[in-house]
Amino acid sequence: MTLKDLIRDEITALAPLLSPMPLSRYMELCLTHPTFGYYMTRDPFGAMGDFTTAPEISQMFGELLGLWAVAEWQQLGSPEHFILLELGPGRGTLMADALRAASISPTFLEGMQLHLCDASPVLREHQHAHLARYQPQWIDDTTALPDLPLIVIANEFFDALPVEQVRHLHGESWQRRAVTWHNGALDWAVTGIPAASIPADIRAAALPDWREFSPLSAIIVAQLSQHIKRHSGSLLAIDYGYNQPAFTITQGDTLQALAKHKPVDVLAEPGHADLTCHVDFQALASVAAAEGLKTSVTPQGMFLKALGIETRAQRLLTQAKNVTQRQDISSALHRLTDASEMGELFKVLIIES
Ligand code: SAH
Repeated sequence: MTLKDLIRDEITALAPLLSPMPLSRYMELCLTHPTFGYYMTRDPFGAMGDFTTAPEISQMFGELLGLWAVAEWQQLGSPEHFILLELGPGRGTLMADALRAASISPTFLEGMQLHLCDASPVLREHQHAHLARYQPQWIDDTTALPDLPLIVIANEFFDALPVEQVRHLHGESWQRRAVTWHNGALDWAVTGIPAASIPADIRAAALPDWREFSPLSAIIVAQLSQHIKRHSGSLLAIDYGYNQPAFTITQGDTLQALAKHKPVDVLAEPGHADLTCHVDFQALASVAAAEGLKTSVTPQGMFLKALGIETRAQRLLTQAKNVTQRQDISSALHRLTDASEMGELFKVLIIES
């Protein structure tokens, strides 16, 4: 049995009711099916893996986010007890760097209840190895958090959540992209979708080009926003994506499959390639704004520079032992902040009470 067999069986079994399979269901199975899901079976990071993320490029990234968390905690009035939650912590590298930097404030570390939300048993092992001394609690979803102020960090989490792709052809009703089984292989299909299940901003724009929305992302941001509204707090989410109102977006298909750092066919090897989409920052910010919270979206380069990444890089350069280390620090700074690399494409959403 492979994931492809399982998907074929689900499509065939549900044919009278549901065929073809909604794209969000296909992505969910590919990424987090308990046995065959991409994240459930492997450590995907690094040169030998499928992709690299900012905390794996440089310790500066996590360190600065740790200082950001301490500053947010102080703004909340330095609560004696609070939750620090990371969504999708990967190997735990970001949080380990963040908490090392946060040790400038021992009361922050003493009052913190570290929560980690991750679907992957393999990556939870890595997180345990890096973070055991902070006694983290692992949670399966964001519905049951203690009644305390909440600080949330999420790097490259929302791009991994399933999306739907929809479009509105002139004079016709709404369509969605779906996955079907055809001539012994997975194939794309287009089917109808009721207008009522499409978010209002996309419906209002009614464009003929594909548009994406992520129901699960909206649910998670709504749950966390409600918690922050009730108990105070803030959320920081960094990812690649766009920040425009729905009516200005024309190219909406951003779904990509990546294996060994190269794009591959989304349908070719379900469960063996990472599937990701660009994050719609306006959509996430508007969920939080609807709860009455403050929101901002800033390019990553600008955000990291405001937190002092250049000063931190200078400091590390003076401590570097050899030319290779110095080159690594300079190239990491360039990669994280330059507009031609991650500086503009990656954005920072902040939600605050
Ligand atoms: N933040 C890390 C890892 C990013 S990869 C870094 O920057 O390196 C995405 C992470 O989200 C992985 O840890 C993966 O296991 C987790 N993840 C993906 N889908 C998830 C879901 N639906 N629920 C919980 N965690 C998920």
